[in-house]
Amino acid sequence: MPADFPFLDPALAVEQRVDDLLSRMTLPEKVGQMLQLDARQDLAEIIQERLAGSILHTSPAKLIEASELVARTRLKIPLLTAEDCIHGHSFWPGATIFPTQLAMAATWDPALLERVARATAVEVSATGIHQTFSPVLCITRDLRWGRVDETFGEDPLLIADLGAAMIRGYQGDGLTDPTGILATAKHFAGYSETQGGRDASEADISRRKLRSWFLPPFERAVQEGCRVFMLGYQSTDGVPITANKWLLNDVLKDEWGFTGTLVTDWDNVGRMVWEQKVCADYAEAAAVAVKAGNDLIMTTPGFFDGAQEAVARGLLTEADIDSAVRRILRLKFEMGLFENPRSPDADRQRAVIGSAEHTALNLEVARRSLVLLRNDGTLPIDPAAGTRRIAVLGPNADDVSAQLGDWAGNSGQVGWMPDGHPRELTSTVLDGLRATVPAGWEITHEAGAEIERLVPDPAGDTLPDGQPRPPISESAPVDPDRIAAAAQLAADADYAVVVVGDTVNLTGEGLSTATLELLGGQIALLDAVAATGTPMIVVLINSKPLSLPPSALGAAAIVQAFNPGMRGGQALAELLLGFIEPSGRLPISAARHVGQQPVYYNQLRGQHGSRYADLTQDPLFAFGEGLSYTTIAYDGLTIGEPDVPADGVVRATVRLSNTGTRPALETVQAYVSDLVTSVTWAHRELKGYRQVTVPAGESVTVEIEIPAADCTLVTADGRRVVEPGDFELLVGPNSRPEALRSAKFRIS
Ligand code: BGC
Repeated sequence: MPADFPFLDPALAVEQRVDDLLSRMTLPEKVGQMLQLDARQDLAEIIQERLAGSILHTSPAKLIEASELVARTRLKIPLLTAEDCIHGHSFWPGATIFPTQLAMAATWDPALLERVARATAVEVSATGIHQTFSPVLCITRDLRWGRVDETFGEDPLLIADLGAAMIRGYQGDGLTDPTGILATAKHFAGYSETQGGRDASEADISRRKLRSWFLPPFERAVQEGCRVFMLGYQSTDGVPITANKWLLNDVLKDEWGFTGTLVTDWDNVGRMVWEQKVCADYAEAAAVAVKAGNDLIMTTPGFFDGAQEAVARGLLTEADIDSAVRRILRLKFEMGLFENPRSPDADRQRAVIGSAEHTALNLEVARRSLVLLRNDGTLPIDPAAGTRRIAVLGPNADDVSAQLGDWAGNSGQVGWMPDGHPRELTSTVLDGLRATVPAGWEITHEAGAEIERLVPDPAGDTLPDGQPRPPISESAPVDPDRIAAAAQLAADADYAVVVVGDTVNLTGEGLSTATLELLGGQIALLDAVAATGTPMIVVLINSKPLSLPPSALGAAAIVQAFNPGMRGGQALAELLLGFIEPSGRLPISAARHVGQQPVYYNQLRGQHGSRYADLTQDPLFAFGEGLSYTTIAYDGLTIGEPDVPADGVVRATVRLSNTGTRPALETVQAYVSDLVTSVTWAHRELKGYRQVTVPAGESVTVEIEIPAADCTLVTADGRRVVEPGDFELLVGPNSRPEALRSAKFRIS
């Protein structure tokens, strides 16, 4: 290739370079540029025959092979390499694995999450990966859904703030930052509105409902400069998202001004043929996808021939293909990949992967993510008291994979890390307690129960397409001997720490659960330990909130850890022994029973009654809940000027008094209730939050500011507006009505 092709000249404007390169590309090269293919398959075929412009799931070894293969293509267009680095560099051996998004959301701290994303980008960029499929901006609606752990929970404002922070952290100083990676806001949009919690089912959702709850975090991602958006798997009102011109063009591009790149989800184009059956063949599906505005086509190898055939059949013009290819090339030019393809850099990897600095940050975020839900005063365990014996029990007390959660090492997505991350990088609860208790204290251990076992799917060994059918999970049998052994350890101890929850086999895509129960021998274990009378501390290591049996609810203390990452066990030990203060707050509500779905706090007004005939509707634990090792009293909520113009700001103060002997990091939550609305609307919505340290025995006054312009609703015809009138400001430690102080204001 002549070195003087204008597209190779970095001094030229990006548009000129795109024009020049495009004018030299054949139709197969253009279509190939649109493919983002699975690098676990034959890489030579992907790059040299299908001419793919992008790859994902590329093992460390194949990342090196890929650059060599590109060098042998006609135009040598650099590849865009992508991976699901969603809470750390998931599939890079020894990388820092942070708590899951849901766990990190419990910190309610955007600045901290920005640092996590920055550290992730520093590790990822050193390995030759340019794009992460993160953050997930889906809003949790049904706890049965298998992907709740990937979300920031249930509130649009918190999701938007945390998502925006992660986008900033990933993208660093912009597209040319060699330590930056492309953030991908996903899954656009409405994927989480499942039916029965079933993954990727039809999202029964109106445009107005989308605008009310699902779209705001994505709009914020556009404002934050997020360069890539990924679709989900859902159809809405009969239209697969891949074909949804209204969302992809009218809303995302025209209304919000998104000029970045759109990537489909896994084989979305193929799914329109073989799964959703809305297209007769790949040519039709390719035409539908391109016309709806999709650019990168993830893992549909058949798009290569399909799109070319669509042009031949007149279903698409080459100009249609050109617009998508332009957006992809523009991105590659703007990232400077033609000058520096950002190949794997072994020296940088040695310096940054799993570095001491990132490990310290991981511990900091794990500490902040733990939510203390119940405490009768047993916690913190006093390290200055005489010698103690602690029985550490339960199936997740020493389980690395449950602790890291989904999308980490051997969680099922890739095959090159069958044993997961190096064992010594993870501190389980057992490890953490052993390392943290004072000298002379005794730690005993027995899992006591299993959660589930993988068994063959009764539907048969193979799928219709001949692929092996994955096994399914079955609740493990109760083993009375193991339970008795655990109960004996509890009886002989001063404290029993029982670590229960779920497993990665009960988490993830296609792995929604019908129940929210603790499976296997876990309830029997909790019952048996509770019966010993030894103070029981229940630690929940689970992908999502589960409903708890009476024995757990009667425990001395409950700590919700979700999947707390590599440093989680150490953080938990520090919390139990009072070396740190609990400060996490739930980003999601927990149900007493699976039948309470949906249980999110911002429900619409207008139901007859407020309970089931056989059960309250009250959540088990509400959005925003979490305790400290002290108590904080709220009083004196005052609004300075209760008449606020539409372009004004509601300014209020509230006094927090720490009535105990330990400091607290309190998350002051401000909700707004619009008292009369032209349409049915939520009882209350989070509109602001502030974290403040309140020293023991002291009071602080906290200022709250909420722009009147944020007090919006979505009208019957789908417009987001402020409706002037009376509002209530509700301020307190969590979303429960009884926990909130209130003051009225009026927007004129
Ligand atoms: C998931 C995405 C993920 C992609 C690539 C899909 O099945 O829905 O969230 O980024 O696979 O692994």
